Amino acid sequence: MFVDSHCHLDRLDSRTHGGDPAAALDAARARGVKQFLAIGVTLDEVPGVAAIAREHDDVVISAGVHPLHSIEQEPEIDAIKETAERFGVVAIGECGLDYHYLEKSPETVPSREVQRERFRRQLIAATELALPVIIHTREAREETLALIREHTDPAVGGVLHCFTEDLDMAREAVRHGFYISLSGIVTFRNAASLREVARKVPLDRLLIETDSPYLAPVPHRGKPNEPAWVVEVAECIAAERGISVEEVAMQTTANFYRLFRAAAPEAPAELRGTLQDAGLLG
Ligand SMILES: [Zn+2]
Ligand SMILES: [Zn+2]
Repeated sequence: MFVDSHCHLDRLDSRTHGGDPAAALDAARARGVKQFLAIGVTLDEVPGVAAIAREHDDVVISAGVHPLHSIEQEPEIDAIKETAERFGVVAIGECGLDYHYLEKSPETVPSREVQRERFRRQLIAATELALPVIIHTREAREETLALIREHTDPAVGGVLHCFTEDLDMAREAVRHGFYISLSGIVTFRNAASLREVARKVPLDRLLIETDSPYLAPVPHRGKPNEPAWVVEVAECIAAERGISVEEVAMQTTANFYRLFRAAAPEAPAELRGTLQDAGLLG
């Protein structure tokens, strides 16, 4: 079975099963995708994501504030914690630093200072709740690593989602208890350095995701993405490592429940024995 560890089920494209999350989830289940983590990108949007999860036993959620979103008021640490607790999230995020668009559109993108403070508050909230963090980072390598080192507990950890950095950064994050999540980008023709990451990061530190509706993998590139296509990400990793897709599926699934331990009690019945043996249900 596969896990889509990062999807935006409240933002699916209308060309994807009419934008209906239930239909998109069914299409994914038919390919063996049996667990989904739906991501909140502002605290205001968490109730909508939670409503989808309530209708589907195999969907768990996170709550966070994305670094690129313009919001009226920066949430206090207590507000982040309160939302997380009210909606029973398994992680804080996505949160992080994204400096890629700062030069192009400085009037719409939150400044470095705003992003840093927003990120810091979410890291502190996550540590206080002992929840893992889902991190979005782009062109902010050193600052991201510094904030992780300062504010997160390696025993709880987190994930660098939709990873696009190099092997050195992946290794540095792994050293601090983090996982690396690969998206459809790993299948892109120009992503040779990311395929090196796919080959060399320890298999027990890898997750897979779609980041639907963004970043559809080859051969679907250019279309709106959907959770069913996490299988193409797993196939690419398997080919790079010279192992079976089943092994990638099994390992990334076990990794998912090890990191997002609050999701383990909700895991599909056929996995419960394995998770119990691994000590992930106690
Ligand atoms: Zn992201
Ligand atoms: Zn995302």
